[in-house]
Amino acid sequence: MRIAVLQEREAGERRVAATPETVKKFCALGASVAVERGAGEEASISDADYEAAGAALGQAEEVVRGADIVLGVQAPEPAVLKGAAPGAWVAALFDPFRERARVEAYAAAGLEALAMELMPRITRAQSMDVLSSQSNLAGYKAVLAAANEYGRAFPMMMTAAGTVSAAKVFVMGVGVAGLQAIATARRLGAQVSATDVRSATKEQIQSLGAKPVFVENVAGIEGEGSGGYATEMSDEYQKAQAELVSAHIAKQDIVITTALIPGRAAPRLISDAQIATMKPGSVIFDLAVAQGGNVEGSAADVAVEKHGVRIIGYSNTPSLLPADASALYARNLFNFLSAFWDKDQGRPVLDEEIGGAVRLTQGGRIVNERIKG
Ligand code: NAD
Repeated sequence: MRIAVLQEREAGERRVAATPETVKKFCALGASVAVERGAGEEASISDADYEAAGAALGQAEEVVRGADIVLGVQAPEPAVLKGAAPGAWVAALFDPFRERARVEAYAAAGLEALAMELMPRITRAQSMDVLSSQSNLAGYKAVLAAANEYGRAFPMMMTAAGTVSAAKVFVMGVGVAGLQAIATARRLGAQVSATDVRSATKEQIQSLGAKPVFVENVAGIEGEGSGGYATEMSDEYQKAQAELVSAHIAKQDIVITTALIPGRAAPRLISDAQIATMKPGSVIFDLAVAQGGNVEGSAADVAVEKHGVRIIGYSNTPSLLPADASALYARNLFNFLSAFWDKDQGRPVLDEEIGGAVRLTQGGRIVNERIKG
């Protein structure tokens, strides 16, 4: 079983799909691991560290030659994978709903694409869940970036020159990223409030010492929803939510939006008219900017100023913490492949529940129901 780890080719991608720790663990399972030279550089991992862990270092063609499994953060173009074993697996992020052409190219190349973002939200797959591990870091970074952009302090400070009041932070969307954003803003001393469409998040918000702000007169999503995910809300709900947000947002200094709906564009949560009600100098961080944005007028990787409010957001937030993001992502991949490792065959054999959920292509065809549909 040959495992290949390539340097990431997407602009701005600083993460790497394996670390010396996971290389060592794959070797212990009996696999051989080849890593492209320089693959870990941006994540502060040297070639020597990979070599010491048991990897063979080489150029891309050598690394890919005969590989049975290729590990990636962003799925590489199939052309890079020429020379891999027939039917080789590629475990990476595929963004399959938007990058349909790439999925088709993988099918045509006879590769087996395993989309890590489609990992089911079930208990036994928690340690394999790359969306969780990366969103957690993104939520943290979003608050730091907003704090950096803000011309005032987060904590209340009583000084001889007078008192600085605490910043008011509002977090919209309380999934994995939102929960970490709340915790981070609290640690920095802000007064925090938060909202979501899933009523199960109310208690989680309170347990972090923040104030829940919820639509009460129209039913949201009770319990955890389908697999813990939100769906598109009714017009009536959206209207009630817009009114609630309008009343609340005018009093906030920082707003962090994190709302996503799997397979769809991000829901619009803040309109230009609502931005206009905020105080000049306020900051909005749109964590959903790469998925279409929660905030009207937000743009990836540039600060937009509207009505005196600065709106920021990055196309790839976890990549700004490349060392930790890589360590967690690499462990997710190892946990995934090792959980299915068949000792006799010396390779992983996926089951229907998880394999069927993440597999996009097999035997020259697109086989994933969610993508086909
Ligand atoms: P996500 O990134 O898909 O969305 C972020 C948040 O935005 C969610 O909480 C969602 O409800 C919210 N949202 C969507 N539309 C909204 C709107 N119009 N207004 C306000 N908020 C809106 O979510 P996520 O971080 O992936 O987590 C979703 C859930 O899955 C959480 O309950 C999480 O605990 C659960 N989860 C379970 C597992 C597991 O069991 N393996 C793993 C990870 C997450």
